[in-house]
Amino acid sequence: MTEHKVSGGYTGKWALVDLSTGRVEVREAPPHVYKLYLGGRGLQAYLIYQHLKARGWLKDPLSPANRLVIGNAALNDTAIPTAGRGSCSFISPFTYSPAEKPWLGHRPPVFGLLTHSSCGGLFPNMLKRAGFDQLIIDGKAEKPVRILVSEGRVQIVEAEAELFEEVNGRRTLRRVSETTDFLSRKYPGSSTVCAGPAGWNLVAFACLTNDYHRNFGRGGAGAIFGSKNLVAITAYGRELPAIFDRDKFLEKARAIDDSVSSHVHDSNWTASFRPETGTTWWLDRAFNGGYLGQKGGYLPWHNFDEGYFDPELYRRVSTGAFLEIAGKHKVCNRCRHILCTRSATVSHGPYAHQGVRPEFETIALWINCCLTDRDGIFYLNHLCNEFGVDTMTFGSVMAGVMELREKGWLPFAGGPEFGQTASMINSLKEITYGNSPLGQLLARPTDLVIDELVKSVSSASPEEIVRCLTTAYAGLGYAGIEPKVFPGMFTAYGTSNRGRGDHTYAWTIQAEEGGLTGAENLAAYVVGSQTGKALTDSLGLCDFFTEDFTTPDFLEMYRALTGMEYTAESLKECGRRIYTLERYVNNRQGRRRDYDAFIPPKFTEPLTAGPHAGRAIDPGYYNQILDAYYQQQQWTAEGLVPDKLLKNYEID
Ligand code: SF4
Repeated sequence: MTEHKVSGGYTGKWALVDLSTGRVEVREAPPHVYKLYLGGRGLQAYLIYQHLKARGWLKDPLSPANRLVIGNAALNDTAIPTAGRGSCSFISPFTYSPAEKPWLGHRPPVFGLLTHSSCGGLFPNMLKRAGFDQLIIDGKAEKPVRILVSEGRVQIVEAEAELFEEVNGRRTLRRVSETTDFLSRKYPGSSTVCAGPAGWNLVAFACLTNDYHRNFGRGGAGAIFGSKNLVAITAYGRELPAIFDRDKFLEKARAIDDSVSSHVHDSNWTASFRPETGTTWWLDRAFNGGYLGQKGGYLPWHNFDEGYFDPELYRRVSTGAFLEIAGKHKVCNRCRHILCTRSATVSHGPYAHQGVRPEFETIALWINCCLTDRDGIFYLNHLCNEFGVDTMTFGSVMAGVMELREKGWLPFAGGPEFGQTASMINSLKEITYGNSPLGQLLARPTDLVIDELVKSVSSASPEEIVRCLTTAYAGLGYAGIEPKVFPGMFTAYGTSNRGRGDHTYAWTIQAEEGGLTGAENLAAYVVGSQTGKALTDSLGLCDFFTEDFTTPDFLEMYRALTGMEYTAESLKECGRRIYTLERYVNNRQGRRRDYDAFIPPKFTEPLTAGPHAGRAIDPGYYNQILDAYYQQQQWTAEGLVPDKLLKNYEID
């Protein structure tokens, strides 16, 4: 294929930043790689694959050999609604499972999975304005540093002493808002993404935060920053993306904008709820079928024991309860129409504060801790943003530990208790700052925590410990939908490339509520969703964008922006290529069918309350869906990507 410069959408520049040597190299990006992998998540999977193929598969995600790539995609900072989402990819420390586990059926080790995290705010678009599609970060700095990207230049700068403080005798990074304020004052008009104290202290589920509350949330990107001695990246620039055919692009962008707007104004579309309730409309939907009228009964309660509980308690944390504290929109750069985020204020009481309304998944996983204290949830969400802690994983970890404590199996004094906000706040601080033995233990990667507790608790059997903790620690941690009700969603959880429990790579709830059943059909739906989501993340758009990428309007718009021509089929093939490459990397890191097939024991125990009482995951049926899933993905029955498929997709 002929090499030439990119024509529009992209900046066409990558910066390779080697923190070990202090060297920065700016490279022209090869357009044929964009053609195959688009940008964002797809391109980052390619860059990490190339790195690992050349230097060897990774054995320790917190070693300097882990490459982290952060950047944007062709549509970022254009007039397409929601074109403000950025990507960050790395091998995740939270999915590190380095030894055979008797309690996982002696399957081989998994040395961390290739993980992509998506984030809005301003930073992804500002990085493009500063002149770069991707920053590729390798190595580890000797001293704490930050990266400055400004108008086409990238510098590694020693981190200032003011960015640190001493907490319990240990020097640590300050809170996220303090770091952001400091760098915003220093570089007016810039945008910063930074780790918080949790990332600095290598908490395996620490996130990266930009714009004070927008997070590259799951998988532990904050801990990767900490492991590299990297505090923050600040970007500033003014360049808008070039456009290959401006008139055509504007014509098609207007048509797409009109279509998104019409969907937001149509009450049959879920998008119509987003400007008012954001993702919290799912609370009513999951509890009692509110919004588009279904049965509900799948909002997890008491560490995934149930999907339904006392409606009087629910009322305190319902969609309406969070609407009461909601204020003005506070949305990502370039978001239009869908506008899912709002500010929020609690004006009285111990948790009085101004911030942002928490998301559905956060609230759901804290309800799973039996927390029905709306103001406490709001305040905890604020603290997680300040410390740089992923709210979802924190919720799953808390629920597991609360159950251990309730049963008298927690071999530490104190610890979190079901329904007790103050105990969760305390645990959050202990995990972030490592200032208690329990906090230090819970901050470790995945099932090392289970191993440790299995060894140290004599009052319970290994099976009993595993039953409490595998919803949190055996993968990425299960998201906030009780999966016993949905075998398709459980398959989405089980096969997500980010690790077991992830809900973002495929979402089947509406389809299953609408009557979708049968192993072949559910597998096909999951495969299609995973392909679509790989495209969303590789185009620079949000999950809530309402349009189909394969319509003539979308494909013509993309061609007018980039000069690159796709058919509906060739664009879908990009999504399949990206998903396959990620899976291949994960195969090399140790993942195969036995990883996907693991069912946390809790999920085979039937629900006893609500409209789905009696439902549980049926292992036989789940394995049938997995068989169909691997066939449709064209992987082996063991869940491995065959060499032939790598060739078909031009991966190798
Ligand atoms: S819909 Fe929400 S998450 Fe998506 S771009 Fe808009 S504000 Fe950001």
